[in-house]
Amino acid sequence: MAIFSNNVDPAEIAKFSLLAEDWWNPFGSSKPLHDINPLRFEFIKKYTPLSNMAILDIGCGGGILSESLAKEGGKVTGIDLSEDAIKVATLHSQDQNVSVTYQVASAEDYAEEFPAQFDIITCMELLEHVPSPDSIIQACATLLKPKGHLFLSTINRNPKAYLYAILGAEYLLKLLPKGTHQYEKFIRPIEMAEMLHQADLQLAHMSGMHYHPIFKTYSLTDDVSVNYLVHCYKG
Ligand code: SAH
Repeated sequence: MAIFSNNVDPAEIAKFSLLAEDWWNPFGSSKPLHDINPLRFEFIKKYTPLSNMAILDIGCGGGILSESLAKEGGKVTGIDLSEDAIKVATLHSQDQNVSVTYQVASAEDYAEEFPAQFDIITCMELLEHVPSPDSIIQACATLLKPKGHLFLSTINRNPKAYLYAILGAEYLLKLLPKGTHQYEKFIRPIEMAEMLHQADLQLAHMSGMHYHPIFKTYSLTDDVSVNYLVHCYKG
């Protein structure tokens, strides 16, 4: 499989950089990330302890998940290609006295430098923003120690996902800025399973994340038809 050291869409980085000031505003454009954070954290903790683990958070943005992992005792490094996001993440962690190392880097470059260094890798809400998600997954496999855990999240591709994640979230409920997501970049679970297989990763669990528009609550569910989480490991 080809490794793309330039596996990045500059328009995506510009989009997230513009939103950088809003990362830690729980009522702003990152609200959905704040809302789902407890769920993905619960999902991760079901399958691995975090204390003293070497953890890499790829596409960490402003550090919403990175900080949660560090507060639980993980030795966390967060990487992202948006310099603005990394600045916000660094300042926020210092302000909160949470120890996280942040760096502007791509997963692929990091994998060349630090193969087999991490017990746990998280890569949430990133795969649907890159030209070649398989290249990121391959980089994750390289970065993991043997038996290391990889946690991913993304959005399924089907008419219901279009209705919920684009029409609903961006146009009707305005939970996210218009243009946040492109339908054709969404990833079906079967495509995800194939990418994991190609990278020699063992798929262990998948779980859906459901948003209830009336109660405005999120919950874990067996239904992976829209947003979903994946747990796999390096066999
Ligand atoms: N993972 C975080 C942020 C998700 S938003 C969370 O779930 O809370 C997506 C992030 O991916 C943005 O910060 C954006 O800058 C970053 N990103 C987009 N393309 C990238 C790439 N090719 N490599 C690394 N980060 C990327």
